[in-house]
Amino acid sequence: MLKKKITKLLIGTNNIGKLREIKGLLPKRIKTYSTSDFKLKSPVENGKSFKENSLLKSKYFSKKTNLICLADDSGLEIDCLKKKPGIYSARWAGTNGDFKKAIKRVYKELDKKDKYWKKKKIKARFVCALSICYLDRIIANVVGKVEGSISINARGGNGFGYDPIFVPRNKRKTFGEMKLSSKYRIDHRSMAFKKIKKFL
Ligand code: IMP
Repeated sequence: MLKKKITKLLIGTNNIGKLREIKGLLPKRIKTYSTSDFKLKSPVENGKSFKENSLLKSKYFSKKTNLICLADDSGLEIDCLKKKPGIYSARWAGTNGDFKKAIKRVYKELDKKDKYWKKKKIKARFVCALSICYLDRIIANVVGKVEGSISINARGGNGFGYDPIFVPRNKRKTFGEMKLSSKYRIDHRSMAFKKIKKFL
């Protein structure tokens, strides 16, 4: 059976960094809309996992606009901190989205956990769940990951969020020090996109 291709898509995020990256990953034939075109605020993210939160956002924005919506939920998991900040990654930056503050909190929690942490490899990963929904109907729901570790200090001014403290596996530079194009080739969002392409 031939499936109808998606021609119009709302991107359900209010985060400009993510919006830019997602737009770049979509086929050019798709006309995209953003939540700011509709002056929509984000819903309360009360899911228990990245997958649940991405579904909740995708359904919410689709119902508000009657458009098919692609939404994501993503964040940083640090193994020795019981996968924190995890789904609370954005919340650690406070209401003003202050990532210097969020990064300080990461280092504070690591200091609390183990004063010798800087001598060890602090395993971490970025996770991205992507969902496509039309109203309550789930068209796709996938997860992508990139494994790596936490650097002992923040480095680089590229990217956003926790990029300056994340070193992907087998690399030396943090995401914050990499060119955006190099980050996008290997990151959690592009891994999730590889899985979702067939639904677009
Ligand atoms: P949410 O998906 O909008 O709830 O927020 C996810 C949060 O995770 C972002 O605000 C960032 O703090 C963090 N995050 C997600 N993806 C990335 C990334 O690619 N680089 C750096 N931080 C990220």
